[in-house]
Amino acid sequence: MTASVYRPQTEHYERRSVTAAKRLLIVYAHPDDEAFGNAGIILAARAAGHEVHYICATRGECGTVDEHFLAEHADVRALRTAEQIAAAEALDLGAVHFLNYRDSNMPGTPDNQHPEALVIAPLADVAERVASIIDAFQPQYLITFPPYGGYGHPDHIAIHHATLAALAQATWQVPQVYYSTFSTTLLRIIITGMRILGKNPRAFGRNGDIDVVRVAEEATPITTIVDTRHVIPAKIAAWKCHASQGGGMTRVPRFLWGWFYGSETLTQVTPAPIGGRTTLRFDA
Ligand SMILES: [Zn+2]
Repeated sequence: MTASVYRPQTEHYERRSVTAAKRLLIVYAHPDDEAFGNAGIILAARAAGHEVHYICATRGECGTVDEHFLAEHADVRALRTAEQIAAAEALDLGAVHFLNYRDSNMPGTPDNQHPEALVIAPLADVAERVASIIDAFQPQYLITFPPYGGYGHPDHIAIHHATLAALAQATWQVPQVYYSTFSTTLLRIIITGMRILGKNPRAFGRNGDIDVVRVAEEATPITTIVDTRHVIPAKIAAWKCHASQGGGMTRVPRFLWGWFYGSETLTQVTPAPIGGRTTLRFDA
């Protein structure tokens, strides 16, 4: 007997109905991906009158959290769902669409094999569900992960592939598609610094499971810059909603905020970029 395929229902957490003429859809894997990756872009789009929806594939069940965050929540799933709802308020998202797969955790963990894990789900199932939201929302802009998913998280890579498949099969053709990306300048400094200190940059982070060398190698090129200087305090407030994932730890002194937080970067996918870097102005 083969185990039946897990086919969860999408839960639509809607804050208002869609009336805006311009719409941005963000498609990521976990509660916090939207804020840590693109809080500034979401807020800049909102400030320019766009409606913004977030498709969140899992509830972040495998996130590492300090015990005290669980005091008022049944488990990590409930905690991170509450954090995502709070972030939706802070980012003024019109809706969060939870696909309700389970967080697959980093490679080599037993969570990879959980029958409800996003990485176990048939790609066609996930793609079909993303496509139906694309057709209902009809966004002009869509942002998702690049092929390596930023730092190689299996869920980031899975939602990348599912989103590309969804874009190909949706009736609504999204005019502008982007991947999130980042400057590798700081990463290269960290790699050099770790090597000087005799540390392994291929085993970085709290759990030693992030290969910073590969992260730098796999980063897709910056084609597009979004000015987020006007939304920095709101961006930091959105990060703080994901406190269990370190969102409250803003140690950059205020006079450097503009340098660190004043822009966010993307890789343009559709239409194909024409070379050089352009500025995406949502109010244009
Ligand atoms: Zn994530």
